[in-house]
Amino acid sequence: MKKNQIPYKMILPESEMPKFWYNIQADMKELPAPYLNPMTKKEITADDLAPIFASGLIEQELSTERYIEIPKDVLEKYHLARPTSLHRAYNLEKALDTPARIYYKYEGANPSGSHKLNSAIPQAYYNMLDGKKRVSTETGAGQWGTAISIASQFYGLECTVYMVKVSYEQKPYRKSIMHTYGASVIPSPSNLTQCGRDILAKHPDSLGSLGIAISEAVEDAVLHDDTNYTLGSVLNHVALHQTIIGEECKKQMEMIDEYPDIIIGCNGGGSNFSGISYPFMMDKLQGKTKTRFIAVEAAACPKLTKGKYAYDYGDTAMKTPITMMYTLGHDFMPSGIHAGGLRYHGDSPLLSKLYHDGYVEAAAVNQTEVFDAAVLFAKNEAILPAPESSHAICQAIKEALKCKESGEEKVILFNLSGNGYLDLYAYDQYLAGNLEDEIPGIGEELDRSLGELPEIQ
Ligand SMILES: *Cc1c(COP(=O)(O)O)cnc(C)c1O
Repeated sequence: MKKNQIPYKMILPESEMPKFWYNIQADMKELPAPYLNPMTKKEITADDLAPIFASGLIEQELSTERYIEIPKDVLEKYHLARPTSLHRAYNLEKALDTPARIYYKYEGANPSGSHKLNSAIPQAYYNMLDGKKRVSTETGAGQWGTAISIASQFYGLECTVYMVKVSYEQKPYRKSIMHTYGASVIPSPSNLTQCGRDILAKHPDSLGSLGIAISEAVEDAVLHDDTNYTLGSVLNHVALHQTIIGEECKKQMEMIDEYPDIIIGCNGGGSNFSGISYPFMMDKLQGKTKTRFIAVEAAACPKLTKGKYAYDYGDTAMKTPITMMYTLGHDFMPSGIHAGGLRYHGDSPLLSKLYHDGYVEAAAVNQTEVFDAAVLFAKNEAILPAPESSHAICQAIKEALKCKESGEEKVILFNLSGNGYLDLYAYDQYLAGNLEDEIPGIGEELDRSLGELPEIQ
């Protein structure tokens, strides 16, 4: 097929769906430092993880096998929403007057509205296999909570979602969706856990954070034998599940005889970025390609660009494994930006290592330029993007404009991780001119929170 005949939208035949997840650990020159047990600070074992995670997921977390077979049942559930379409952004290209060819993979058309369902389905599946009755989890903006509520329902599990209190109050419809799928939703910090009660005793008006909600969900799982904890990002097994995005995308691009020069994803805990990137990163690690990979974070939560590469906890109450990652400190309090999914203090250990070793670039963008990009995209491509995903759009536009200046016909691919139909409050704020970029006191807050990193011998 000639490049000028490339369709607006590429649909992969269902028979071409990848049947394996790709594990980048098989091709990394050096693996990240091991996780540490938060109590003993010794290297973590599968036994340490057993009280909170399903055995199938622990195996994946620690595996260095290159390809891991997707269980037949999970593949069937994937078919409800996959394969997803790959779009050529002809209209956006025209609006930018760029010689670049811009592509995006759209993960927001499934019932949960984001890529998170790709990991929610296998996580619920492996917990069902272990005979668990219930899963606990946290959610910030609500996309993960929605995805795991759907997946729990598929496998007959009860689902308890600790939702960051500020989102619980600002996004009532997210709650309604989770309730519809049968989940219980608890504003965090809550009175139901010791760490919730501790926080409330100190800060009765606490609006919560992802770090606090994770602590509550982990405590719930530790104290109940029939319950496991699930996490929507950051960990190796979550990145693994998300590689279905990049694997499909690679096949789609092959069918139109294209290969990306630049791959862009927004970065909260690293899962959607990893998902679109790693199957292509394999070629780079094997020395076959020179693709650039750009992880885009919120300037208000700049772990890669301003954080420290260090061992840190994944949660506020210091109950999760300690991992080597780019972090802003486990009790860093980001300002209340509208891309709730990008407000996590840390990052995926795998992505952190790849960034540290120079395989990935990072960019930080501001809230107002992100919404400028979101609106330009919506007007030209019709899809209303999630604020998180719009960070990737914003960077893609910047790269396309550089191509306009240099006259280079680069191929730019970005992941459109979700739709923004439940983020209309944020759009309203933007359209009314109420959004701000200022990140008051981030320097001081960062100095304080980085002072709280655990000491590791
Ligand atoms: C959760 C979320 C993100 C951020 O999480 P990652 O693990 O970094 O992908 C980005 N986009 C959307 C739509 C999300 O729901």
